[in-house]
Amino acid sequence: MTPPSSAPSSAPSPARGPATGPALGSTLAIEVSGLVVDCGGTRILRGVDLDVTRGEWVTVIGPNGAGKSTMLRAIGGALPSSGAITLFGTPLGSLSRTARARLVATVAQHPIVPPGIGVLDYVLLGRTPYIPPLGRESRQDLEVVSATLRRLDLARFASRALETLSGGERQRVFLARALAQEPQVLLLDEPTTALDIGHQQDMLELVDELRAAEQITVLATTHELSIAGEYADRLVLVAAGQIVAAGPPEQVLTADLLAKHYGARVRVIDGENGPLVVPVRATTRRGPPATGQP
Ligand code: ADP
Ligand code: MG
Repeated sequence: MTPPSSAPSSAPSPARGPATGPALGSTLAIEVSGLVVDCGGTRILRGVDLDVTRGEWVTVIGPNGAGKSTMLRAIGGALPSSGAITLFGTPLGSLSRTARARLVATVAQHPIVPPGIGVLDYVLLGRTPYIPPLGRESRQDLEVVSATLRRLDLARFASRALETLSGGERQRVFLARALAQEPQVLLLDEPTTALDIGHQQDMLELVDELRAAEQITVLATTHELSIAGEYADRLVLVAAGQIVAAGPPEQVLTADLLAKHYGARVRVIDGENGPLVVPVRATTRRGPPATGQP
């Protein structure tokens, strides 16, 4: 993959797999079958099956506590699980840490930030899988990092301490670190939660451009249901640790499914690029309280 600063081209770049990782010929980027995760004696995921094709964008939705983050963490290799997880035809467990990190980058819901770290140094952590043990970053590593900072409108923060940034600025830095990793698969756990609507669109458009230009595969989670339908090829609805619906947005974003699994009252209307979900209040609108004045 070229640095994210490059303009997207319509011709995908040749598949360039990590040196010690799998060949990228497989059209299935992610294959998950019978995925089970137990935490603290509780079964969190109860047998999840999911295939994601190379270059596809799949978004996982579902109520709080459904198991969305757990699913992404297991697929990213950050959690022990049972069942099978395969990336580009290679079992996750047989990839070295470095090979896995060249293949998959995660933006966690609550990333751990080393205290006092600067923005540039944090994004440089994304280059770790390319830096030899006991080695230093190369000029190319620094070029990728500064191109990524520019691409995400973060260059002016390069020397700032990460913890002094606003929530939205920090969320863009987390994505920058993941992009600096030059992955084939992006796992994005609620990547736009802290962003204003303009930065939400910028981030999602950027990810979509990368996907078109580099055939990056995207597996994301979100609570923004209309946005989920706009950007994803396919939605997966998770409830109580199981997939309860999956398919194109118009099949999953239905008032019935959202009422059943979120307990939500919504109206679903046709948008330009798919269904739009509008919450509807339960009571009829009341006027202001009477003041007793004539
Ligand atoms: P989501 O991302 O869909 O909101 P999560 O995947 O974060 O949900 O969590 C799913 C469920 O698993 C929640 O009920 C959460 O409390 C529980 N859970 C997550 N991690 C642990 C843990 N380490 N020990 C016990 N329960 C956990
Ligand atoms: Mg979560």
